[in-house]
Amino acid sequence: MRVLITNDDGIGSPGLAALVHAFDAASEVYVVAPEHERSATGHAITLHKPLRAHPSGIAGSAAQAWATNGTPADCVALGMLDLLGSRPDIVVSGINVGPNMGRDLTYSGTVSGAMEGAIFGVPSIAVSIGSFRNPVFTTAAQFAVDLAQAIIRYGLPEDTLLNVNVPNLPGPQIAGVAITRQGTKRYISRLEKRTDPRGRTYYWLTGEPAPQMDDEGTDSWALARGQISVTPIGLDLTSERLREVIARWPLAVPFETPHQ
Ligand code: MN
Repeated sequence: MRVLITNDDGIGSPGLAALVHAFDAASEVYVVAPEHERSATGHAITLHKPLRAHPSGIAGSAAQAWATNGTPADCVALGMLDLLGSRPDIVVSGINVGPNMGRDLTYSGTVSGAMEGAIFGVPSIAVSIGSFRNPVFTTAAQFAVDLAQAIIRYGLPEDTLLNVNVPNLPGPQIAGVAITRQGTKRYISRLEKRTDPRGRTYYWLTGEPAPQMDDEGTDSWALARGQISVTPIGLDLTSERLREVIARWPLAVPFETPHQ
């Protein structure tokens, strides 16, 4: 199995190292990752400045690795279009420190790394751990390997990918695997307004998790129950619900003479 690993926490992240070591035994591992943290960059790509990729290394691994000045999506594109020489069998993005559930998916660089893989037509998964504090990656890393092997065996439909969140618990304490749907869990945005040493105003966006509980069957619901959440997601952003509603609106081309 040829695996392309990326992330948004940066090439020095312990979550990425854990993933590399878990895949090392049975795979040809390639790493293309941002040289520093690019969390919450979404699916940004770099079009207006040069991209650079520097050969790098992951301690204790023979994986071929590059650190880039790009985003996670840039990293996957660089890997696909040049660095790897040929396409990988799978793209794995993570392991992110902190969950990517509900509304996070729109902002997540981790998920976007996997989405870029799906855009290239390669089966892809994003993996995050359910805690920002004291993450222990062993279980999440091994689950990623197991899931990758299942994907190699069964395949994934075109334009789809899997978003995985693993509770920050030792393996025996995890309450199973749930196939979930994307919830609506979000952060309450707050704006810190401060004054810099030169007397000018600056802002710092921050937030905390909203207290509401998600419905049964969602990603955050499963994680709260100590289950590994696997959410199938797609590249198609069409809302079928809205398509039906808006089809009934009387929209017409401006200035058009009605046909007789
Ligand atoms: Mn991150």
